[in-house]
Amino acid sequence: MEYDVIVIGGGHAGIEASIISAKMGAKTLLITMLVEQIGAASCNPAVGGLGKGHLVKEVDALGGVMGYITDKCGIQFRILNSSKGPAVRGTRAQIDMDRYKIIAKNICLNTKNLNVVQGIVESLIVENNEVIGIKSNIGKIYKSKKVILTTGTFLRGKIHIGESTSSNGRAGELPAQALGDNLISLGFDMGRLKTGTCARIKASSIDFSNLEKHNGDTNPVPFFSLKTQKETKEFAPTQLPCYVTYTNEKTHQIIRDNFHRAPMFTGQIEGVGPRYCPSIEDKINRFSDKERHQLFLEPQTLEANEYYINGLTTSLPFDIQEEIIRSIEGLENAEIVRYGYAIEYDYINPTELKHTLETKKIKNLYCAGQINGTTGYEEAAAQGIIAGINATLSSKGQDEIYLKRNEAYIGVMIDDLVTKGTKEPYRMFSSRAEYRLLLREDNAIFRLGDLAYKLGLMDNEDYSSLQKDKQDIANGLKWLDNSITPTLEVLGFLDSINEEKISDKTTYKTIISRRSFDLQKLMELIKFTKAPFEDFSQRALNEILIESKYHNYIKKQQNLIDNMDRMLQTK
Ligand code: FAD
Repeated sequence: MEYDVIVIGGGHAGIEASIISAKMGAKTLLITMLVEQIGAASCNPAVGGLGKGHLVKEVDALGGVMGYITDKCGIQFRILNSSKGPAVRGTRAQIDMDRYKIIAKNICLNTKNLNVVQGIVESLIVENNEVIGIKSNIGKIYKSKKVILTTGTFLRGKIHIGESTSSNGRAGELPAQALGDNLISLGFDMGRLKTGTCARIKASSIDFSNLEKHNGDTNPVPFFSLKTQKETKEFAPTQLPCYVTYTNEKTHQIIRDNFHRAPMFTGQIEGVGPRYCPSIEDKINRFSDKERHQLFLEPQTLEANEYYINGLTTSLPFDIQEEIIRSIEGLENAEIVRYGYAIEYDYINPTELKHTLETKKIKNLYCAGQINGTTGYEEAAAQGIIAGINATLSSKGQDEIYLKRNEAYIGVMIDDLVTKGTKEPYRMFSSRAEYRLLLREDNAIFRLGDLAYKLGLMDNEDYSSLQKDKQDIANGLKWLDNSITPTLEVLGFLDSINEEKISDKTTYKTIISRRSFDLQKLMELIKFTKAPFEDFSQRALNEILIESKYHNYIKKQQNLIDNMDRMLQTK
């Protein structure tokens, strides 16, 4: 078999990599251990969040599918940090993790140019430091111009639940042992990381009566940004609540009493875990003064018959997990469906990679996702799409792309990884992006739309509506540099929208930049002034509002970027 691109692994990186390659016309193969596990959520049933929502929107803007699938199977949508500035807001959705897999698998199976096959890859076929194909566990050889590795937590994976250990890539799944050994023998600089997950509880055994409810937003906003106007109006997902409960002194005592059985502390686990997503035993150890830790009970599917306990990741023995859980309010009679566990796995030091995600050592081999030392579905998807785009471009003899730090969170993440490497699971935060005022979720499509169109990943209809919006935004912002004078009529209008009066001639932008000024008021202002914005889309008006509010800061940040660009030109 001859392929342009082979993607190994049908996780979140592999889905984006294989679909985008096929969409760009590459003859693509997705080979993965279990077809029904394509798009599995190994840990929490949620997509997006702070910093991560940006990645999903950027993947979406580049023609990826994570946002689209999430919108189709989301069961609670929220904008986090909604009271803060737009740069640090993050869209997050609870997902029905079973439906996520079904939709992802169906998209893969229905994508033109994409073959899907179940199999375990045992080795790469490398000649003269170039990968030319792969070999599966049944001895089948697939030849290809490019290979993308997206093997997640599976490389020489080892699971820990208390003293019990087993070789697995994820609970109940095989590890990628032979491929892990093969990568070591190829001379890659590999390391060992660890991550973990919590127990899942049967819903009917939870007493929700005294637990605080956590609802989704009244007006849920989807991730999928193309054809926004139409899709947004039709977007009405069923939203389920999450519930809040807390650990308590009894819980902490049980955990402290069993530190000697925690693989984290006994030396059984060698890999470094995610600093920002610590296990409960780690939290009790590190923050011993804290009286309680907040836990969220999150439904795993629309049927809501099984709950994920967000905040209670653990690899303590099963009997201790039972004790811990039953010490918590609402969970006194909880029945555990799946126990929590930790997993150790190999990763490739990402300084082994170029910005294109091709390895420096072996030509035509790309890596994306958890294998590069990251953690998270969104981080994986974001690397997957870049690896897929570049493998395809390169297979056609075209120039590869990379996103700069001032263009996308994806650019920040890949630059961090390939220039600095990572010794612990890397996750995205808005604080990692130094130009975050410019890199907002709301403008992802404006930042990346031209590139998507150039790559053939946006259709003409979407592109022309994007171009119109861009022109409208430019015209609108220019128009708002006009001023108004405090006539009786103007003062009356400001009063009617609950805005402070003005005493001098003032630009519209100055009024808009007030904290109290929102989109509704902008619409009123447009009506009152008969501003030439009649046919502007909601998306364009939103950008006009944000860019007017922050125009001084945005200008400053743009100057910094221009200076940095000049420095980067210096040889
Ligand atoms: P994965 O989603 O792991 O997918 C890898 C795919 O590759 C699988 O389909 C597998 O079958 C396939 N594969 C592997 N080897 C081979 C082979 N040799 N041949 C064929 N197919 C192969 N993320 C967070 O953000 N927060 C968390 O708290 C968190 N906790 C986690 C806890 C656990 C226990 C696990 C397992 C993961 C956790 N994650 C967490 C990580 C999250 O699941 C991953 O970051 C994300 O799924 C990575 O996506 P990926 O595509 O790189 O790999």
